[in-house]
Amino acid sequence: MDDGLDRPTSRELTSLRPALAFLKPYRWHVAAASFALVITASVTLSIGQGMRLLIDQGLSSGSTDLLERSIGIFALLMVLLTIGTFIRFYFVSWVGERISADIRSAVFRHLIRLHPAFFERNLPTEIQSRITTDTTLLQTVIGSSVSIALRNVLMFFGGLALLFYTNAKLSLIVIASVPFVVAPVIAFGRRVRKLSRTSQDTLANVGSYAGESLRYIKVVQSFNHQQIDELAFDERVSIAFRVAVRRIRQRAWLIALVMLLVLSAIAVMLWIGGQDVLSGQISPGELAAFIFYAFIVAGSVGAISEVYSDLQRAAGAMERLVELLQSPSELLEPSEPAVLPVDGGSLQVDAVSFAYPSRPEIEVVHELQLTVEPGEMVAIVGPSGAGKSTLFDLLLRFYDPTSGSVRFDGIDLRELALADVRDRIGFVPQDPVLFAGSILANLTYGKPNATAVEIDRALILAHAKEFVDKLPDGLQTVVGEGGTGLSGGQKQRLAIARALLTEPKILLLDEATSALDAESEDHIRQSIAEMKGRCSILIIAHRLSTVRQADRILVMEDGRLIASGPHDQLVRNNELYASFARIQFTDGGTSNNLSWRSTAG
Ligand code: ATP
Repeated sequence: MDDGLDRPTSRELTSLRPALAFLKPYRWHVAAASFALVITASVTLSIGQGMRLLIDQGLSSGSTDLLERSIGIFALLMVLLTIGTFIRFYFVSWVGERISADIRSAVFRHLIRLHPAFFERNLPTEIQSRITTDTTLLQTVIGSSVSIALRNVLMFFGGLALLFYTNAKLSLIVIASVPFVVAPVIAFGRRVRKLSRTSQDTLANVGSYAGESLRYIKVVQSFNHQQIDELAFDERVSIAFRVAVRRIRQRAWLIALVMLLVLSAIAVMLWIGGQDVLSGQISPGELAAFIFYAFIVAGSVGAISEVYSDLQRAAGAMERLVELLQSPSELLEPSEPAVLPVDGGSLQVDAVSFAYPSRPEIEVVHELQLTVEPGEMVAIVGPSGAGKSTLFDLLLRFYDPTSGSVRFDGIDLRELALADVRDRIGFVPQDPVLFAGSILANLTYGKPNATAVEIDRALILAHAKEFVDKLPDGLQTVVGEGGTGLSGGQKQRLAIARALLTEPKILLLDEATSALDAESEDHIRQSIAEMKGRCSILIIAHRLSTVRQADRILVMEDGRLIASGPHDQLVRNNELYASFARIQFTDGGTSNNLSWRSTAG
């Protein structure tokens, strides 16, 4: 087997041991496969003895009766072999598929609960490849290579024993010549395998080039880049072709060499064995059986050497999967979590400092102190990079503060179950991520069992009902990956409706920075107005219209809270805020976007 996947191998086949834990539930399938394996190997080996009897007794005695009996036994063995092969193949492949499916699920189940910082250190694309490629590798290895290896180990020892049983002198000659036949085959085989990996690499290159060009087709065409892409693509295709030809040439040599060596070995055996037959030392049947077993022994050595590297690669794959499975979540949950009051909704940020784990030397939040009462609406403003989104990350407990504490209704988030923390919050990200699927599926993302009335209410609150009703398929309208097919404002309003549907006590809204048209902006302003008082709202604001709606405005700069109060008061007391307001108003009010660039650089 050579699927050409260029995955690092592991020298230690013991790394495959964790796969045994996944095998355990299917021990009866494994037992059935092993039983069938022993039966088929024994039947195959007994064919040599059958051949000997057939030639020596059936043919040489001239009795049709004996011939028919021998053929009858042969037919019976064939039936056994067929049934055994079916059972072995079916169960072994079944177990291979089942285990790789189980490992995939186990890895995903683990990953989806890991702390987000994990995915900053381990790229999601790399992980994605591990889940698919490494498990596929395991599946092929468990579903075929392991059984090939086991079958051939059985055949090797059985064949060897029968070889000696049939003729010890010839056996010694065969054993002595085995290295001369096998060594060049293994050496060539290695070269072929290496080349097929390179070939796979160059092919992957072809694929990724095509993928990137097609994904960004509008950029490609707008720069009239097609011809350059064509040439670059052709270049990659021909490199892949040249590597493939090198591999084919090596393979052709390998096949020819195997033929030559095997046939020469048979010629030598026939020559020596034939002389023995002529001199009456052995019977023709013995010679036939002997050649048969020699084939089996040589074949099994070849097969084992072929699958050994697969086993090593599978061990490497298993190592990487186990590494994923064993990576601990850094967001520890208490064994006996505290319970939040049903009608709470206040939050406290107490002397919180924070640095991202990927950049521990840069503190992005310093000694932040903040309290939000139930039902209060607080707008957070500040220049880009001030730490506004980071504050949301801390409130959602995607990260734990380096020092200080975040509390809901006075309870430290670290004393609560993560699910309870997030249940309490409705989150509308700046880029309102929608998933491929229907609008309905996206809305009910956080509450799959929402009723039609609840969905309607959320849509009305988010001012999204009107546009959804106007779509030809309404709620069943299918949006593409990332919500393609909807405008920025529509996506944001759907994201608000999605968050409201879970009836959160605290709503975190990261306002879109991209300029929405006046109408969308007005819709969002109205939906915020309607949400006011229903839950505590923290909103990262980029628009004056939003800022004016808030009960209180917090001004953040460089991870610090530098001012807090209502708009009019801040205009009077805070220079940063005042200069922003000045720019806004001299702008003639045409743009409602806060522009910090000119004030905070
Ligand atoms: P904007 O208005 O542009 O979204 P912001 O005020 O929300 O800005 P944050 O996203 O909170 O700012 O970022 C605060 C600082 O933290 C920035 O300097 C940013 O480079 C850094 N930062 C953000 N995310 C990470 C991360 N995952 N790892 C390391 N540093 C990060």
